[in-house]
Amino acid sequence: MTDGLRIRVRGQVQGVGFRPFVWQLARRFGVTGNVLNDPEGVLIHACTDTPDAFIAALDDDAPPLSRVDAVEVEHFAFREPPTRFDIVQSEGSGAETRVTPDAATCAACIADIEGDDPRRRGYAFTNCTHCGPRFTILHSLPYDRARTTMAPFKMCPACAREYADPADRRFHAQPVACSDCGPSVWFEDGAGRVPDGIATAAERLGRGAILAVKGLGGFHLCCDATNPVAVAELRRRKHRPGKPFALMGRVQEIARYADATDVDWRALRDPSAPIVLLHKETALPDEVAPNQPRLGWMLPYTPLHHLLLGAVERPLVMTSGNLSGEPQVIGNDEAREKLNQLVDGYLMHDRDIARRLDDSVLRNTAYGPMILRRARGQVPETLPLPDGFDDAPQVVAFGAHLKSAICLIKNGQALLSHHLGDLDDALTWDEFVRADTDYADLFDHVPSIFACDLHPEYRSSQHARVRAQGSRLIDIQHHHAHLAACMVENGWAVDAGPVAGIVLDGLGLGSDGTIWGGELLLGDYAGFERVAHLAPAPLPGGDAANREPWRNLLARLDRAGMPDVAEMLLPHAPHALMRQSIAAQMNAPLSSSAGRLFDAFATALGFEAAQTFEGEAAMWLEALALCAPSESIDAAYTFGLDAMGGALDDAPLWSAWHKDYVQGAAPAVMAWRFHAGLAVSFARRARRLVETGKAKAVALSGGCYQNALLLDLTIQALGDVPVLLHHKVPANDGGLALGQAAIAAAQAVCDR
Ligand code: ZN
Ligand code: ZN
Ligand code: FE
Repeated sequence: MTDGLRIRVRGQVQGVGFRPFVWQLARRFGVTGNVLNDPEGVLIHACTDTPDAFIAALDDDAPPLSRVDAVEVEHFAFREPPTRFDIVQSEGSGAETRVTPDAATCAACIADIEGDDPRRRGYAFTNCTHCGPRFTILHSLPYDRARTTMAPFKMCPACAREYADPADRRFHAQPVACSDCGPSVWFEDGAGRVPDGIATAAERLGRGAILAVKGLGGFHLCCDATNPVAVAELRRRKHRPGKPFALMGRVQEIARYADATDVDWRALRDPSAPIVLLHKETALPDEVAPNQPRLGWMLPYTPLHHLLLGAVERPLVMTSGNLSGEPQVIGNDEAREKLNQLVDGYLMHDRDIARRLDDSVLRNTAYGPMILRRARGQVPETLPLPDGFDDAPQVVAFGAHLKSAICLIKNGQALLSHHLGDLDDALTWDEFVRADTDYADLFDHVPSIFACDLHPEYRSSQHARVRAQGSRLIDIQHHHAHLAACMVENGWAVDAGPVAGIVLDGLGLGSDGTIWGGELLLGDYAGFERVAHLAPAPLPGGDAANREPWRNLLARLDRAGMPDVAEMLLPHAPHALMRQSIAAQMNAPLSSSAGRLFDAFATALGFEAAQTFEGEAAMWLEALALCAPSESIDAAYTFGLDAMGGALDDAPLWSAWHKDYVQGAAPAVMAWRFHAGLAVSFARRARRLVETGKAKAVALSGGCYQNALLLDLTIQALGDVPVLLHHKVPANDGGLALGQAAIAAAQAVCDR
């Protein structure tokens, strides 16, 4: 027997080059033994006189795409002293090689495409163990080449050698390819095909063309972002008048056109390469993002993007390639059929996209990053569940309706799916149903508990009923799920006590059957009480009130006893008709929505149009408020306490605003005072819950907390109480499924 060590490494350590990394470390430190993958992660048997440096390096020098959660060391007796260090076959029946998120091209691969080796120079599908496509090319697990869209491409001898050599950066990189054997790119339009079409595409873009560019998780629509005519034409063809376009630029373009902080640069350069919202620096044409102080930027994240940006030498609009309301196009024929009317040509390639993934979107705040849309680069990474969930059964939760996403719980981990979108769209609905089976297959998930929103008419709730088929189905109140999502993401243990949740969002069905949306809740995973809420106001026209902000202004000014002001501000509105329907309670449901209050206030300050995308009026109002000079929080428009108790009455807010308005106050100042009033009114009440010992912390959730000014003012007003914020999971309905899953799991654990 020879003394040795058995070293267990847990975390994201499979499919990220961890075994070759261990192999190389072993050579460096003169360690003998072996390394293998098994169902728990990576297992090392090591024979060495100096283990400490080797063990420390396992975490310190780990490969870029890995995440080491734990390194556990125990004694191990070798039957015979090993003479070398080997990578051995995976062990155990349940051994499965996990798949990691797609990762942006690494620096070494960028050097390869700019280098001299003809196999990689200018090659648009260069990748290695530290970068490249993963989830977007995967058909099924385990993750190996035969189960990816790289299967049709047979490796040439040179690629096969790299793939088989543990000393090579491409050892076991499943999508390894070169210009001799891998996928190829071409440009096509009505006139035919141009092989290696990147130069042609760049030249067309430079002349103002709009192109479809096949990327990693779908097609983009692309044009020169510095060309106002091209951008306006893209808006016209896409029927998208106002919603901001995302931009792609190299470091030099982003540095020139945007104001990025060090933190922003770190986010941009992350392997997940999200779209990062950045302040405008040098103005691009206003058509890129009308009236927005920020633009969404991303760095090129595939070799194809690097080559295209290098050839065109200017920032490009990169917006998702879809017909209005539909999911992004991924197939070549699908693109030719659907995008035909939108584009002048295509930059195509022949590597299929197995999974549609939008670009992720992130915004940095003074309190850390906030994910606004969770998609490419973020999935299928799992989130560890807090203490108390270890014995939780397998749960699947189906999220909301407009920003749908699914969440799976298994083995103490939560997997929140990518952003799926609006379930009213037929194709998104198909995608949602497919994602449900797909994630279940991939993660070998057999749920015993199903969770959904309380709203019976959400298509996700209806789907949950079909799926549960007699198994336990738990309906979860919308804002309780928002609160729980924020708790889980902050590692709040099951028994850590109640949290005060300020949940401000659009609409969600309340436990009393009315529509909620501006809530102060006190609760834990098991349950909650509604401590305070915005006073309910009618939504004249129902759904129409979501699209047309003026309806909310009319309803609220009437309620505040200011009908004459409503008539003055909205001279052309059908007042009588609206008032009749409100009085008769016909198609004018009551709601405490904070989102609709934002809409009403934006209209009071001059937002005129109907909204062309969700949150447009609120974003407009935030942008306006950010122009205000800083002033004391005492200037905030505060709410009164309604006689009904618990309801925050907005009538005092409207009269304070009106006083400013007649005195000719600047719109920016009034917008700021509105934000401050909402923040202070909720924060003071939440703070009191902590001070009186009823809550241990305050959580901020709901779509309104994607508003950085509201977030900032709320945190200031909360003072020194512990605050839980969203970082990795969207504050909006995109994060809802995580909260639903956690509540359902916690209830199952408590019931045992
Ligand atoms: Zn690489
Ligand atoms: Zn090759
Ligand atoms: Fe919501």
